[in-house]
Amino acid sequence: MTGGFVYSEKPIAVERGEGPHLYDANGAQFLDFGASYGVAAVGHCHPAVVSAVQSQVEELTFVQASYPNSARDGLYEKLAAVAPAGLENVWLCNSGTEANEAAIKFARSATGNSKVVAAMQGFHGRTMGSLAATWKPKYKKPFEPLAGGFEFVPYGDEDALAEAVDDETAAVLLEPIQGEGGVNPAPEGYLQFAREATEETGSALILDEIQTGLGRTGALWACEKRGVVPDILTSAKGLGGGLPVGATLCADWVAEDSGPHGSTFSGGPVVSAAAEATLSVIVEEDLPENAASVGEHLQSKLRGSELPIRTVRGEGLLLGVEVGRGANAALKRLAMDHGILALPAGRTVVRLLPPLVVEESHADEVVEALESTLAEVTA
Ligand SMILES: *Cc1c(COP(=O)(O)O)cnc(C)c1O
Repeated sequence: MTGGFVYSEKPIAVERGEGPHLYDANGAQFLDFGASYGVAAVGHCHPAVVSAVQSQVEELTFVQASYPNSARDGLYEKLAAVAPAGLENVWLCNSGTEANEAAIKFARSATGNSKVVAAMQGFHGRTMGSLAATWKPKYKKPFEPLAGGFEFVPYGDEDALAEAVDDETAAVLLEPIQGEGGVNPAPEGYLQFAREATEETGSALILDEIQTGLGRTGALWACEKRGVVPDILTSAKGLGGGLPVGATLCADWVAEDSGPHGSTFSGGPVVSAAAEATLSVIVEEDLPENAASVGEHLQSKLRGSELPIRTVRGEGLLLGVEVGRGANAALKRLAMDHGILALPAGRTVVRLLPPLVVEESHADEVVEALESTLAEVTA
């Protein structure tokens, strides 16, 4: 057995990346419209990130987080500057699931409660706590028992949420747009409702922006577009520009009583330098604006096309194209015949999650490829 045994490997060996493109050993080009699970938000090997990593790795590769370090402090400051107002307390870790583990622990510690309310179809990660907050039974069954105290409500249903949230609730944990669960945006007013329900009971509202954050939906954070500030916001995926970094941004009342958490690798200088450079690129190149406009263009092209698609959901450059049972076959043909790499979201949805640096011409390329591919697989 090889090291790849948990992944079903694809027959493309990727050796190089630049911007939205990946290349195999023979130089064949692929358009990475899944941004490698959303990580390549600023594109592959962005020069600013590469150069920040190169200088930092030579200066100081690692030092434990209890010694102040300018690279880590730079990231703390940068994150505090771009965080929704009131979420300036930053915990750094190495992945999305860890950012959510911390969020759950902090909320339990700060409220003294244990119950966590999460949503059906939600996805929050694969470690025991975040997995307990994840909906899909297939991901959980073989690993039970998971962490206890988790309750699920239908996403978008205000009455169900009102019923579930009470004085025993530590947190409500939601994605502003469910990514992995099929690209389902929160209905109008739902996050606001969750904000009010948690405020009334003294529980924490945790928004998982690991997929929706950093400009992908057309604003730096999806919650900003809805006028909601949570108590805890989690970020990861694109944050490190390709290096593994996660962040848990907390309100003062959460940070003040967050409990004895920790991690050896928290805020290492190299990943911190990479993340600070990545955030600077996102702000300076105005990538939220690019995501909004290219996303708009892509949506209107998809809707205006002759494609046999049922619906297009999402915002900015987080789009789900409902194609029915042919989704997996379509993804395979897109990759092998057209050099376009996209992602699934469940069995019926093609998920488009490109780097935020893509241009309208890349979107056109994808729509054309989808046209010929879907004509074949749904014929
Ligand atoms: C990817 C993802 C996670 C998990 O992140 P990992 O880095 O894989 O642990 C959690 N929540 C959401 C919404 C995600 O999209």
